Amino acid sequence: MIRHPEYTRERLAQTAQRLRAAIHPETVPPDELLVAGPVDRIPYAEAQRLEYRPAEAGERLGPLWATYWFRIGATVPAAWDGRRVELLWASRAESTLWIDGRAVQGLHGVEPSQRPDATVAWPARGGERLELEVELACNGLFGRLDHPPEVERCELALVDEDAWQRYFDFEVLRALEASDALEPGFGGHLREELNRFCTSGDDRILARLLAHRNGTRVHRVSAIGHAHIDTAWLWPIAETRRKLVRTFASQTRYMDEYPEYRFACSQAQQYAWIEESEPDLWARIRAKVDAGQFVPVGGTWVEPDCNLPSGESLLRQFVHGQRFFEDRFGSRCREFWSPDAFGYCGQLPQLMRLAGIDRFLTQKLSWNKFNRPESHTFVWQGIDGSEVLGHFPPADNYNSDVSVDEVLKTSREFKDHESSGRSLLVFGFGDGGGGPTRAMLENLRRMHDLQGLPRVEPSTSDAFFSALEAEETERPTVVGELYFEYHRGVYTSQAFVKRGNRMCEQLLHDAEFVAAARGEDTAADLDRLWKLLLLQQFHDILPGSSIGLVYDDVRRDFGELESSLHGLIGEGDALVNTVGVSRREVFDGRMVEAQPFADAQPVDAHDEVRVDGLLLENAHLRVQLAGDGRVVSVVETDTGRAALAAPGNSLELYEDRPVNFAAWDIDPSHLETRRECPPADRVEVLSAGPLRAEVAFERRVGEASTLRQVVRLDAGARRLEFHTTVDWHEEHVLLKACFPLAVHAPNATYEAPFGYAERPTHYSTSWDRARYEVPGHRFADLSEHGFGAALLTDSKYGYSCFGNELRVSLLRAPKSPDPDADMGSHEFAYALYPHAGGWRDGAVLAEAIRFNAPLRRTAGVGASFASVDDPNLVLDTIKRDGPLVLRLYEAHGGRGTAHVRLREPFAHARLANALEEPYADVQVADDALVLPYLPHQVLTVVVEP
Ligand SMILES: [Zn+2]
Repeated sequence: MIRHPEYTRERLAQTAQRLRAAIHPETVPPDELLVAGPVDRIPYAEAQRLEYRPAEAGERLGPLWATYWFRIGATVPAAWDGRRVELLWASRAESTLWIDGRAVQGLHGVEPSQRPDATVAWPARGGERLELEVELACNGLFGRLDHPPEVERCELALVDEDAWQRYFDFEVLRALEASDALEPGFGGHLREELNRFCTSGDDRILARLLAHRNGTRVHRVSAIGHAHIDTAWLWPIAETRRKLVRTFASQTRYMDEYPEYRFACSQAQQYAWIEESEPDLWARIRAKVDAGQFVPVGGTWVEPDCNLPSGESLLRQFVHGQRFFEDRFGSRCREFWSPDAFGYCGQLPQLMRLAGIDRFLTQKLSWNKFNRPESHTFVWQGIDGSEVLGHFPPADNYNSDVSVDEVLKTSREFKDHESSGRSLLVFGFGDGGGGPTRAMLENLRRMHDLQGLPRVEPSTSDAFFSALEAEETERPTVVGELYFEYHRGVYTSQAFVKRGNRMCEQLLHDAEFVAAARGEDTAADLDRLWKLLLLQQFHDILPGSSIGLVYDDVRRDFGELESSLHGLIGEGDALVNTVGVSRREVFDGRMVEAQPFADAQPVDAHDEVRVDGLLLENAHLRVQLAGDGRVVSVVETDTGRAALAAPGNSLELYEDRPVNFAAWDIDPSHLETRRECPPADRVEVLSAGPLRAEVAFERRVGEASTLRQVVRLDAGARRLEFHTTVDWHEEHVLLKACFPLAVHAPNATYEAPFGYAERPTHYSTSWDRARYEVPGHRFADLSEHGFGAALLTDSKYGYSCFGNELRVSLLRAPKSPDPDADMGSHEFAYALYPHAGGWRDGAVLAEAIRFNAPLRRTAGVGASFASVDDPNLVLDTIKRDGPLVLRLYEAHGGRGTAHVRLREPFAHARLANALEEPYADVQVADDALVLPYLPHQVLTVVVEP
């Protein structure tokens, strides 16, 4: 032998091609190939009534999202009797193979590494006539195709089972030989022996090589099949429902052939869709769940965004997820499976725990642009101290192909070898679904115990985490939110979705409260509407990162939510305060007052607001506006403090051209492109007191947009409001409002789900710099000792604070994946709220709650239904699920004992988890519930009559 490794490797590659070709030694064309279409997405039964015509070779199919149905009649050659026969169906379109009216497998792509093949007879009968049907969707795994698809191949093929096995034997060994990390002694032997195999074709050579076992202590990789199916993204939900069919049909089928195979599947909503429309496939899934192969994971309704939904919404994701899994499959999930969401708020560990979940999986933080996570396996401690076991699969993806390279990467990149001996590999086509291929499962079999590789074994998430828990070791602890150092545009993109989310969360809250207070049974409606909102919180819908077709559906769904919820709340003559804070404010030209969760009453107005030119003044604030639309000064009269260090409400335009991921990202470079909007060209005093002062400013913004702002100060109000309408037609532009505050502090505070997050106002370290744009809910606050100011918003989620400049991001205009994103009219409001003391003493949260929950005109609920005597403990949700259920959370990071008074008599009350399972009695004193609470604690109280 003349030694020359490169020649040898090229020879091995050439041999691999020959081995691949030998898998299908013979093929025959079908007897006939008929086609019908284009049609919409129609059920199978309807497809049977279509008119079919002979398909023409090379026929271009379309348009995008159209469907064609093919009928294939083919005869198995006599010589193939007893053998395995496959359909080779190559097209770039996603397709479903139907046999005898059942969806049996998905098909996609043209390369052998994709899924262009499906077994159609095994063992085949010679002379047997096969009737097959293919439903072809004119879209790829990732939606739009570059070219109209066509049927590039349609044949029956004989499978040489030995050749199939030989090919994977050879390929795993060849990839191992080529890896840099291999011990050179074994590498040289592999090269020599594989070369000998090329010459002799002797299978015993491969068998001997594959028999080389691992070391006694090597990293263990738990491999779990998965198909990340974005519930909507580059395709609409209607296509998602077909992706589910294709994916689950394939995977349940492979489970027959590969009994060791385990497939993890999250998102209760996706199961619910199959249950609703595909009873046959649903039965197969249930059988495989019972067999332990098809493994429900995640515990949530969909995989939601984990920054933008409210605390209550996130909790309901778990409640509806866990209830579904328990009801249909008899058990709850123990892990929160969220491989792809864009950051994780600091209350998640507690919410998980409250829903019976103590394990967490993601890989998304591997995308961080500034600081990579320091551990793959760690304890994640929430802001309240709740702990869950977290794992980031070190392959940094959830779509592994189980190649030698990926398996080696898993072991090489794993950061916790000192404290742990295993990690997770999540494999299978994902994002657009699909899941593992048979080839991946063959690779997996060969990697079980092979010299040079970690030990790779099929596993479930439960088995993996249980094995981690059995490791006696000390793990690093990560505390608080897992801020994602990427995709900061998703707090702002598709403003209408953010607005719809905030509005519908409030509407659901109010509908639950009024039904509870008025004794109405609307539970079935509310269950349905909650699930509809939870769906919109999917991690590509609410973030604004889907195509326009998705948002057509979202507009319809928000319309349905709003009209149904307004219907449930009903009409009437009372003004109802639906939240747990008292209020005194101007409403419809009157001063009204309301206790928590009570009807408002008109009161005499002893306050007034005065207007002098552009100076607005009430008992609490003195506001000087400028003709250009800015606010020159705001003085909080109790303290005499000026809130602004320079004119505020500067509307700023930034060039917003992220280098990647237009809808997802706001890049650091945008900060260098700030320019002020032109000044207002029209100013009008709309209302000059005594109860309301309003000044309207109109201006052109950017190239083609107009903005109108009504600046409002009411009698008795402590906040200055900016009611804004924008006709927005900019491209690649980000609009922010800036308030330079007369406040100095190293951190700003942002409302987060059931809590808050503090983030730096400076760029001292890479961790600080990464937080140049951050998520927040109803308020962002900058306070120093004794004084501060908050920005309140009614539908915005993107904020930033650098030095003393507090900003809210108002609108974007990304052009991809939805070129029409954010185009058109918008309505939103924000407010400046200066306050004595810090944000806690300044009651910022209460003001933000009032700003987001206007009084509702509806049938009355009477006197205060419930109240809490302690501002730290917020009574957020009141609903009736049989018994009365209260949800409270500690909002300020303190501890104490609160008393909750209820209007209606009750027999006893108990503390419960999120699933409303009681775990302790609540003490009652003087007819009030006595609730001791801890910092950031979320409490559920079940009250029984
Ligand atoms: Zn995703």
